[in-house]
Amino acid sequence: MSDFEAQLRAVSLRVTRPRLAVLAALRDNPHVDTETVIALVRAELPTVSHQAVYDVLRALTESGLIRRIQPAGALARYETRVGDNHHHVVCRSCGAIADVDCAVGHAPCLTAGSDHGFVIDEAEVVYWGVCPECAAEPVQ
Ligand SMILES: [Zn+2]
Ligand SMILES: [Zn+2]
Repeated sequence: MSDFEAQLRAVSLRVTRPRLAVLAALRDNPHVDTETVIALVRAELPTVSHQAVYDVLRALTESGLIRRIQPAGALARYETRVGDNHHHVVCRSCGAIADVDCAVGHAPCLTAGSDHGFVIDEAEVVYWGVCPECAAEPVQ
């Protein structure tokens, strides 16, 4: 049994080829958008419909096996790295995304100035900037 099969069973999801294909695609290609996931899955399973991939992404996100991230103004992206409250740095120019580990090591890694009585267990941070490739491009 593969790791992905065990993960699906652990959250009571049936093991299906589209679900396994989506998990493998995201493991190998973190932070890709829905259209890219569809293209990657169809390279393996040509008959899978767009709707089937949407459904798989939603089920996997709801079960916590994948994480959906959506930087402001950008398309939703997905990744299999979950549960560690890591953050992302996004290139303003080309949209490239990279992981940024939690600043202090454990979630939540940011201490709110005031918690207003809430029990805080997660901090959501997006760092914005310019990636090395865009920064190296000659100014037009
Ligand atoms: Zn860039
Ligand atoms: Zn990430």
